[in-house]
Amino acid sequence: MIWNEARECMSRDELMTLQGKRLVGMVKKVYHSVAYYRNKMQQTGIEPGDIRRIEDLNKLPFTTKEDLIQKSPSDYMAVSQGEIIRYHSSNATTGTEIIVGCTRNDIEAWAECVARCIYMAGLGGNDTIQIAYNYGLFTGGLGAHYGAEKVGAAVVPSSTCSIDRLIKIMKDLRVTGIMCAPSYLLHIAQMIENMGEVNHLNLRTAICGTETWSEKTRSNIEKMLGIQTHDVYGFSELAGLGVACDCEYHKGLHVQEDFFLPEILQKNSNIAVKDGEKGELVFTTLRREGMPLIRYRTGDMTMITYERCQCGRTNARIARLENRADDTIVIRGVSVLRFQLENMLADLEHIRAKYRMRIYRKSKLDMVDVLVAMVDLGRQLSSEEEELIKGSVIAAVRKTIGITPRVLFTDIETMQEAAEWVSTVVDERHF
Ligand SMILES: [Zn+2]
Repeated sequence: MIWNEARECMSRDELMTLQGKRLVGMVKKVYHSVAYYRNKMQQTGIEPGDIRRIEDLNKLPFTTKEDLIQKSPSDYMAVSQGEIIRYHSSNATTGTEIIVGCTRNDIEAWAECVARCIYMAGLGGNDTIQIAYNYGLFTGGLGAHYGAEKVGAAVVPSSTCSIDRLIKIMKDLRVTGIMCAPSYLLHIAQMIENMGEVNHLNLRTAICGTETWSEKTRSNIEKMLGIQTHDVYGFSELAGLGVACDCEYHKGLHVQEDFFLPEILQKNSNIAVKDGEKGELVFTTLRREGMPLIRYRTGDMTMITYERCQCGRTNARIARLENRADDTIVIRGVSVLRFQLENMLADLEHIRAKYRMRIYRKSKLDMVDVLVAMVDLGRQLSSEEEELIKGSVIAAVRKTIGITPRVLFTDIETMQEAAEWVSTVVDERHF
C-alpha cells in the first residue's frame, strides 16, 4: 500500500529537481529570517545565490545538536510566534532539550509523513491503531496520532497507561496495529505472553521507533506476538517520528526525501561516503517552516541506497540503526545522554562516597542499580545515614530519568575491582 504514489514513486530525476527547488527556497528563507544561519553562512562566505541546485548542498555549513542546545529557541526559529501553533521538545531531559516550534503546515507535513509510514506498514483506514507513545512535549504520541487519523484509522490514544489496561483495551477494541517504543512493546509482549492472551488478540502489526532496537529484539517481539514489526525513524528536531520507515520488504527505511534531504558523511567531515558505506546521517529539512535545519548532524551511523525498492517506492533507504553514535542511553523509553548520568553521579560525590550506576534487564524490563561505596569512613554507616544517602540517590535518579533505582552499599575495594568500567555508568543490556 502506498499513501502518496506521486511523491513516493517519482523518478529520481524528478525528485532531485524538486529537492533542488525546495533547497534553494529554504536557504533563501533561513538566510533572511534566522540570524544564526545568516551568521554561519557569512562566516563561510556563502550567500543564498550560491545555492542553485542540489549539488550545491555541500557548500552549506553544518548544524549540530550542541549548536541548538546553546541557543534559545527564538534564535533558531524562522517564523514569528504568531505563526507557531505548537511547541514540542526533544525527549532528552533538562539541560539538553531542544524546543521545536511548528507551524500549521509543519503539523500537516508531519501527519503526511506518518501517514506514509502507516501505509508502508500495511495499516490503513480499516484498522484500529493504538498509540502507546507518551502524549505531550515528546513528539511520539501526537505525531503517531495525527498520522493514524490522516489515514482514517480508528485511533486509540491509550498513551503509556498501565499495561493491564492497555492489553484489555487492545482486546476489547480488536486493535490491529500499535505504535510505541520497542522497549515498551517488548514489555507488553511479555505481559501478553504471561497472561496467555496472544490468541485472543487481533494485533497484526507494530510500528516502533524513537529508540534503537536490535534485530534480536525485533524477532523476539514478532515471535511472541505473531505480528509484523516496522521500524520508524525520526526525532523531534526534524519533526518527530515519520522521517523514514521500512516497507513490507524490510530492506532499509524509506526516507521521505521530498521533506528531508539525507547525506551520509564521514564522521566529523564534509566528505560523503560511497553508497552502501557506513557514515554519519546528516539531514537538511526542505519544508520545515518553524524550525528549518541545515545539514543537521544526527550522530547516527548508517548507510544509504538509492536503488528502487521491490515495493515500487523510489526514495532512498537507510539501514536500520542499532546504536546511537551520540551515546544516548534509553531506559524504559526515556532517552538520556550518558554524560548526564555521569554528571548526576559526580554531583552526588559530596556525600564522600563513590557511585556507580548499573543498567540491566530483568524479565525484559530495564532495571537500574546504584552502587555506593563510602570513602575513608572507617566505620559502618548507621541505618539513618544509609536511609539519608539512599533518599538523595533515589531523588537524583528519579529527577533525571523518572525511574526509582535500587541502591546497594558496597565497599570501596569491591568498587575499585570494577575499575575496568570505563564510565561510572555501565549499560549491561545486550539489545
Ligand atoms: Zn520498499
